Amino acid sequence: MPSGGAVSLVLEPAVGHTPGTAVDQGEEREMSDQVKYVLDESRLPEAWYNIAADLPAPPPPVLHPGTGQPVGPDDLAPLFPMQIILQEVSTDRLITIPEEVRSVYRQWRPTPLYRARRLEQALETPARIFYKYEGVSPTGSHKPNTAVAQAYYSKQEGVKRLTTETGAGQWGSALAFAGGIFGLEVDVWMVRASYDQKPYRRGLIEAFGARVVASPSEETNAGRTILSEHPDSTGSLGIAISEAVEAAAPREDTKYSLGSVLNHVLMHQTVIGEEAQMQMDEAEDYPDILIGCTGGGSNFSGLTFPFIGRALREEAKIRVIAVEPAACPSLTKGVYAFDFGDTAHLTPLVKMHTLGSTFVPPPFHAGGLRYHGMAPMVSHLHELGLLEARSYTQTEVFAAGVEFARIEGILPAPEANHAVKATIDEAIRCREEGVSQAILFNLCGHGHFDMQAYIDYAAGNLVDYAYAEEEVALALAGLPAVA
Ligand SMILES: *Cc1c(COP(=O)(O)O)cnc(C)c1O
Repeated sequence: MPSGGAVSLVLEPAVGHTPGTAVDQGEEREMSDQVKYVLDESRLPEAWYNIAADLPAPPPPVLHPGTGQPVGPDDLAPLFPMQIILQEVSTDRLITIPEEVRSVYRQWRPTPLYRARRLEQALETPARIFYKYEGVSPTGSHKPNTAVAQAYYSKQEGVKRLTTETGAGQWGSALAFAGGIFGLEVDVWMVRASYDQKPYRRGLIEAFGARVVASPSEETNAGRTILSEHPDSTGSLGIAISEAVEAAAPREDTKYSLGSVLNHVLMHQTVIGEEAQMQMDEAEDYPDILIGCTGGGSNFSGLTFPFIGRALREEAKIRVIAVEPAACPSLTKGVYAFDFGDTAHLTPLVKMHTLGSTFVPPPFHAGGLRYHGMAPMVSHLHELGLLEARSYTQTEVFAAGVEFARIEGILPAPEANHAVKATIDEAIRCREEGVSQAILFNLCGHGHFDMQAYIDYAAGNLVDYAYAEEEVALALAGLPAVA
């Protein structure tokens, strides 16, 4: 297939025209056929997109917890490489992707974009459903898009060791993979609930050469404090972040790496949306609705920010939906306030939708979505009215994920099931209203390491945790006072 041509999933290539010309290749097939749009390697994006350049109002500053004043690059230098800090505060629209990073991306990027015609038919919807599939990466999710960049900049600046947290294990395995490529030692604090529930993810992290510690652990003050009060703590991302930060800050040769939430992480993920824009061109279509699941907000931002930026520049309208778990609903039930990113209060204060930094979400299966806060940039866009948010319980999202797997042949990660559920609901709304809209969602990872969750679902053993209103109120009462 020539560069940039849309390629079909069926073995017989479409005949009678040159791929890449103005023929809707989907129309030539049975209506029930899935259509796959792949981009040639030469179309791999050359720069990340920074939405800060296009916003009608700048996001609030990051504050020093001691002084209440905005932090400067020097305050963050013990934790992050300087290139990463500069990206965090940059307002340039495009940031060049280093060639060394692009050459690693080429192992799996550009990723495919599918038109889910079989799902459309099953739902009898006039909606056109598209999904970008990030499960083809070496660790099965979008996370390596930023892990590779972070490991690269760390290596450039002479760092020897990276510390990090991981929830479900997706981020830990991505950073272990990237650290291995650039010859860095990686220590991963893994939330206890996932450490026990997901031994295969732990095994993958170790296979890539990193060390895994169950969090809370005895290795840090933060961990020991939690364990002395709650010996059976199932852990949380907030606690694991405290431990990883504590393990990095005092050591010259060590930096801390975060897998979501921060501006630079969201920006590294925009290769997803940039590619999707080219693929939607190939499909000769454009999304009316964009959907992504949100834990810390990075895969959602990666898909949507390039589209939101374009809508802002062209004063066009686009519906954007962030989907979160009902048991950890930061955007739909949290307050928009300055809060710590971690439980032991070692990080700067960021303004975000938060359930309180000491809130420990129940151990539901979408481990990647168990974070008390939302990315400050996603929170800011929500405040500006640029996106909608909704939440679902875990049994309804697993029902949607299984339906999707049976029709489309890809078993989504439990996190991604939230986006699948919202997509199906929107497609049904299109049917009921008799409108044909294009929906594009991010299928941010596959669920092959999450089979216990699917086994539990099939056996009827998944519980829907209610949103813990009292615990959240308690955690929110401890929000830091900011003038
Ligand atoms: C980590 C992860 C998430 C949640 O993180 P975001 O930063 O919100 O994207 C969602 N899905 C998958 C597959 C993940 O690995």
